[in-house]
Amino acid sequence: MDELLEPLTAGNRRALSRAITLIESTRSDHRARAVALLADLPDRQALRIGLSGTPGVGKSTFIEAFGTMLTDQGLRVAVLAVDPSSARSGGSILGDKTRMETLARNPLAFIRPTPSSAQLGGVARRTREAIRLCEAAGFDVVLIETVGVGQSETIVAEMCDLFVLLLAPAGGDELQGVKRGIMEMADLILVNKADGDLLGTARRTVADYAGALRLLRKRPQDPDGFPKALPVSAVTGDGLAGAWGQMQALADWRRHGGHFAANRAEQARQWFLADVRAGLLARLDTPAARGRLARLGTAVANGSTPPAEAARDMLDWLSRQK
Ligand code: GDP
Repeated sequence: MDELLEPLTAGNRRALSRAITLIESTRSDHRARAVALLADLPDRQALRIGLSGTPGVGKSTFIEAFGTMLTDQGLRVAVLAVDPSSARSGGSILGDKTRMETLARNPLAFIRPTPSSAQLGGVARRTREAIRLCEAAGFDVVLIETVGVGQSETIVAEMCDLFVLLLAPAGGDELQGVKRGIMEMADLILVNKADGDLLGTARRTVADYAGALRLLRKRPQDPDGFPKALPVSAVTGDGLAGAWGQMQALADWRRHGGHFAANRAEQARQWFLADVRAGLLARLDTPAARGRLARLGTAVANGSTPPAEAARDMLDWLSRQK
């Protein structure tokens, strides 16, 4: 049994941190230990909430306020980040340590920034596994935060029970800027900064999005009125309790209808397939495999071997490797 298992399942945040570092490692001995640890985790569930929004919309302010509200209710809250900018450049939009300072000091909370220098696929796997570790450590809510860039929303939506889109108050033309595909993934649209001078604009924006959501096809498994748009203010806290109430109502509805468990079962199947694919690709990335690929590639390029034959040669060779 792994020495991290006991303190981890007792809720020790240092052990959780070390376990996440372990699953982030690409060293093969670390990977073997991580796989064994994951297999030993107790079957505990948190509510997994995905939260997406462009930089500046107020994600960290929202998570700080929302997370503190939940911890005030005695709930344990973990925050993980999926940040495609760190995968590309090594620099992270979400990794800044000064974000969410109050929550970071809260003993009921755990915040983990995106690892730098990881591929987006690697970040996805690491985040899925980190979610499992947080659940095993007894967290009640896991917030998975992402910036609205590229594929990251889809990746996050596929690992969550609920997907929340945070938007800013805006004129009508900005509504066009939110891609239909992203709207379709959202269970809840929260229009943030609904306070002070922005309150009126925020309310109009909510009405615009509510109208747009009604035009999308309703998910048959969800109750009437979902997906929903609501105004919130991360600064004043207005609307946060209501938003949490809506998230719980939707999660409860899906639990009773069996869709919650069905969704997780399907996610588990997809993760398995993704891990198999990643494992196969990794086998192409050894020195021997790269050398063989280069030699075969040259043979194909100079016409001495047809592409199909070279491909079969490569696959046969791979299947003979241990
Ligand atoms: P992030 O980049 O999405 O994490 O956004 P931040 O949380 O850093 O917020 C960006 C800016 O918006 C900051 O100046 C915040 O103070 C401000 N902000 C965030 N939430 C609110 C809100 O509810 N109302 C108002 N008026 N400003 C907000």
